[in-house]
Amino acid sequence: MNKIAQIFQTLEYGPAPESAQPALDWIKAHDGVFGHFINGAWTKPGKTFSSDNPATGESLAQVSEGSAEDVDKAVKAARAAFKSWSALSGYERAKYLYAIARLVQKHSRLFAVLESLDNGKPIRESRDIDIPLVARHFYHHAGWAQHRDREFPGAVPYGVCGQIIPWNFPLLMLAWKIAPALAAGNTVVLKPAEFTSLTALLFAEICEKAGLPKGVVNIVTGFGETGQAIVAHPDIDKIAFTGSTDVGKAIRAATAGTGKGLSLELGGKSPYIVFEDADIDSAIEGLVDAIWFNQGQVCCAGSRLLVQESIEERFIAKLKLRMSKLRVGDPLDKAIDIGALVAPVQVERVRELMQKGIEEGGSVYEPDIDLPAGGCFLKPALITDVSPANTVVAEEIFGPVLVVMSFRTPEEAVALANNTRYGLAATIWSENINLALDIAPKIKAGVVWINGTNNFDAAVGFGGYKESGFGREGGKEGMGVYLKPAWEKDLKPAPAAKASPAKPANPLDASQGIDQTAKMYIGGKQARPDSGYSRPVFGPAGNLVGEAGEGNRKDIRNAVEAARAALGWGTSSAHNRAQILYFLAENLQYRRAEFAARIKEQTGEKGEAEVDAAIERLFAFAGWADKYDGAVHNPPLRAIAAAMVEPIGVLAILAPQARPLLGSVALLAPALAMGNPVVLVPSEKSPLSMTDFYQVLETSDVPSGVVNVVTGDSAVLAKTLAEHDGIDAIWCVGDAATSTMVEKASVGNLKQTWTSRGLNYDLSDTEKFEGDYFLRRATQVKNVWVPYGA
Ligand code: NDP
Repeated sequence: MNKIAQIFQTLEYGPAPESAQPALDWIKAHDGVFGHFINGAWTKPGKTFSSDNPATGESLAQVSEGSAEDVDKAVKAARAAFKSWSALSGYERAKYLYAIARLVQKHSRLFAVLESLDNGKPIRESRDIDIPLVARHFYHHAGWAQHRDREFPGAVPYGVCGQIIPWNFPLLMLAWKIAPALAAGNTVVLKPAEFTSLTALLFAEICEKAGLPKGVVNIVTGFGETGQAIVAHPDIDKIAFTGSTDVGKAIRAATAGTGKGLSLELGGKSPYIVFEDADIDSAIEGLVDAIWFNQGQVCCAGSRLLVQESIEERFIAKLKLRMSKLRVGDPLDKAIDIGALVAPVQVERVRELMQKGIEEGGSVYEPDIDLPAGGCFLKPALITDVSPANTVVAEEIFGPVLVVMSFRTPEEAVALANNTRYGLAATIWSENINLALDIAPKIKAGVVWINGTNNFDAAVGFGGYKESGFGREGGKEGMGVYLKPAWEKDLKPAPAAKASPAKPANPLDASQGIDQTAKMYIGGKQARPDSGYSRPVFGPAGNLVGEAGEGNRKDIRNAVEAARAALGWGTSSAHNRAQILYFLAENLQYRRAEFAARIKEQTGEKGEAEVDAAIERLFAFAGWADKYDGAVHNPPLRAIAAAMVEPIGVLAILAPQARPLLGSVALLAPALAMGNPVVLVPSEKSPLSMTDFYQVLETSDVPSGVVNVVTGDSAVLAKTLAEHDGIDAIWCVGDAATSTMVEKASVGNLKQTWTSRGLNYDLSDTEKFEGDYFLRRATQVKNVWVPYGA
């Protein structure tokens, strides 16, 4: 047989290598050694380390290890550049972003080859996915630069942003960080991951070519310590991080109390759900993209296959067949599917986790396919016979390893999908669009792909729920995390609260005789404090005006349980929530005189104005309930992405001491309007307005558990709430020490926090607080991708 006939018989791939030469020439042009890019110039290389090609183990270049001094120099350059960069018109900034986009496109092949050499990903992916998305990101954000002031009135950039990125999508993660930061008017200091610095350094050259003003973009290479120096630098205004959840938590703890902005893009263990009516071949092809894209080193990898029991056997058989056709090989070969993992240590980590999977009873399947000799290559793997408690099911493996479980009903699929501390992404396969669209909102994840997977676009936000982090990248939400209201910088310290009269040494001395202790309100019922103690409430002249329960951690536990049982509030219709808030306002109006008198009793102030303001605030957020909603994006592929605005979950609120009614209502109303059940700790000094308020709640059809009121020592209850894993977000009006404590204690489940840090947030200001300020903080955006095509 001649060769062509033979090829037709076997249909085997021939080699299709891309030349590494242009990328090697670029490295050579730098003598194979790089300094940092600071203030528009290259520093002299200092102590260096090697950046290796994971496919061969060969060293590609020497890269400098950034010290705290290097970081400091970069921050100073970024600070100096900030004034003029942020003063440029949006149009001027847009032109720079556009120039960068054009230059990335022009040199896209060089970028793609360099990325594949340094990271080990197939050239097919770097060429067709990573680099085009990088260019798209800069184009898209050129538009945001120009329209910033129209779309974000009253917002200003943070200042200097410290940005730390991982190695799995080196240039793409850089683009996701730098493009919105610059569009918003910030300057940046970015640290690439130690394994993959080279495309960030090539990007620095692109910035030079684009004529970007000195100091706007600074790149400091190095290890985790360099990242730590960025996080710790006092003159950095915002940190944006992508990487592992452990490091994300460390960064959350390190930034607590500093007032630095923070966005975290962390790990995932994303479910890939296949229903029995799915197009199985498409679902399998999707799965190849979900878990073997980038060797599985993808934060949103569909690494947990949940397949309906009725098709499980057939599906797994077909999947194994497909796995046996995957080609693992030289990343620069255009016809391979799976390249090299990033480094030997990552191969080791994946192997260890697989071993653990076996030890815990899992069965590993690997197809009988060839691996190149040497280099960081692994076969695609499938682990069956596992259950939710297994390490390989719970932990992010970050390698080409899929775990499989089955389910019977849609409810079980949702329960399994949500049975994870993460919440980054999910995929649903079903030919029944009604079923898919019913499941999508039930899954706690920032991105849901229906009948497709790993779709990304600059116009569509990306980011996590739960321990996958907070903040979004891409879209309007992504711009939002690089901006803050201009008025925040003018906030003054809150006036010191007047000291409460001391508690009497003998508790009996405070007692009013007949027990008139205001009870707490938990799960729609009045509740006595678990402690059995109450605390006196004094009027302005030190006179005793009543008593309130001394709440403790058991009361908080009960309140959180009640609130979690009321999470259905978030899926009730917005119209329904609006009606209930209007009704609350109406019922408060009926009792205006009584509430005003109670305010006067506790504070000495005339209370009518405060009650009126509280009624108006309830009206305002009743009005928002059905209006603060999402968008439909039209990314450049045959799909729509529905950006749904969802509640965060159970919200804890520590209300201010002043304005005992309005202070609580101003925070409660936006939280409720957006569908979050609340555990409220009212003013410690004057709690009686809110213990009265539950009578209004009871008469206004607010479902049980949606509002829970626990009175007591704010700082003590704040700590319990911040540490509680059943709380998803916490807002705390408190002094600097309490705010820092709340931020630190929130690390456990990475709850979203808003704290006043001892500053005077005047919640009576309708201009500032009747709009989206708290609505934004009460919600998170989920993007549901739905493809179309006959
Ligand atoms: P890390 O989270 O450690 O690294 C991410 C980035 O943070 C890197 O630039 C790293 O620097 C830097 N860094 C490390 N420690 C600190 C610190 N204390 N303070 C500030 N910055 C720091 O991820 P790894 O590279 O170590 O990967 C470990 C695991 O994390 C993977 O196996 C995977 O499971 C997960 N991961 C998840 C990612 C995601 O997108 N969700 C991305 C990458 C990893 P340096 O590279 O020099 O250490």
